[in-house]
Amino acid sequence: SEPVTLPAGAVLFEEGAIGHCAYLILSGRIAIFRRRDGGETVLGRRGAGELFGEMAILDALPRSAGVRAEEDCVLVPVGAAQIRQRLAGADPILRLCLEGLIARFRETLPRLGPAVAGSRPAALSLAARADFDATVAALAQERALRRALAQDEFALFLQPIVRLATGRLAGFEALIRWHDPERGLVPPAAFIPAAEASGLIVAITAWVIGEIGRIVPPILQAGLQAPASVEASLFVSFNVTAQDLARSDIPGLIDAMLRRTGIAPGALKLEITESTLMQDPAGAAAALARCRAAGLGIAVDDFGTGYSSLSHLSALPITTLKVDRAFVRAMLAEPRDRRIVQTILRLAEEIGVAAVAEGIEGRAEAEALAAMGCALGQGYHFGRPMPQADALAAAAA
Ligand code: C2E
Ligand code: CA
Ligand code: CA
Ligand code: CA
Repeated sequence: SEPVTLPAGAVLFEEGAIGHCAYLILSGRIAIFRRRDGGETVLGRRGAGELFGEMAILDALPRSAGVRAEEDCVLVPVGAAQIRQRLAGADPILRLCLEGLIARFRETLPRLGPAVAGSRPAALSLAARADFDATVAALAQERALRRALAQDEFALFLQPIVRLATGRLAGFEALIRWHDPERGLVPPAAFIPAAEASGLIVAITAWVIGEIGRIVPPILQAGLQAPASVEASLFVSFNVTAQDLARSDIPGLIDAMLRRTGIAPGALKLEITESTLMQDPAGAAAALARCRAAGLGIAVDDFGTGYSSLSHLSALPITTLKVDRAFVRAMLAEPRDRRIVQTILRLAEEIGVAAVAEGIEGRAEAEALAAMGCALGQGYHFGRPMPQADALAAAAA
């Protein structure tokens, strides 16, 4: 929208008028006023860089006050649609905050004098009912997650990872579960997104790292007894998010845990999804480099789904690629998916990292992948994620 000029003394709009836009002040100065009983009160003044006239746009009520130029002004109109479109995309909680502020403002207005004809009591309509319900649900979920952390309602399950050529157990992936007293066992897909949106993921990952320190030593111990079906040096991998790497000191947390427990760093592997890495490759790289330097393995999770470029990949200290379940599931029926799997395996070999195929549900996939040279496999065919005691039994079997 084009800037408009308003000469000193001119009235832009009166109280009670319908608002079609707000205004950004490029230069000059305006006064916000109300007329009562023949007198006039100036409620406020705004200058360059400030916005005014937004109230009637936000709550779709008539102007609550008039505006007059005190100096020659240049104003940029901001249309109602421009504002509402931004509001629609805003965080629902932010929107509720805004509504609360507007409601409070409208409630204080009568104290400044009776309303003129045309203005009604506030009837706010910013947040649709569905938004409101979603916000309430999100807040409840967040409360429940905080409680889950405080009351230790999380558990790490362990899913076997098998060396495809020999069939021997090579390690485990730690996968979080939530024992909600009301809902029972909740899978991560039902709460990790909310944990990421609320920032609680950082505290959850800190818990995961602590729990790894608790459950891994007995598993490594069992591996050392090395029955024929188990490799002597087992590893355990666990999942971290981009937010963890950006907001908390993951390398420091891991380092403290390793010192406390005496776990060999080489027995642990960080899993981070390819799409996550692509969000902030440089930010992730520094933290991952520190973990790698400390001796941990670094696995790129869900590989093939995140559109990463080779240049990004080669800048990261990766030791493992995990072929996404989607390709594994489809590869026997779809030649195209089989070629994708083959390409990923070749890429892994090319850059000198191990490959893990995820989501192996049948013997045919396991055999096909072994024939294609994939080193490691994970999936229901070998075992589901299981409680620690069962994993311990598997490692000692
Ligand atoms: P993911 O890291 O890709 O983990 C593999 C998921 O595939 C797990 O689901 C596992 O149970 C499932 N899976 C394994 N084998 C098979 C199979 O043969 N068939 C099928 N249909 N599924 C299989 P889960 O445990 O529900 O975890 C889902 C996702 O939640 C994980 O995907 C991961 O992204 C996230 N997640 C799990 N634990 C954690 C955690 O501690 N921290 C974080 N940040 N995310 C986690
Ligand atoms: Ca994973
Ligand atoms: Ca995965
Ligand atoms: Ca996945």
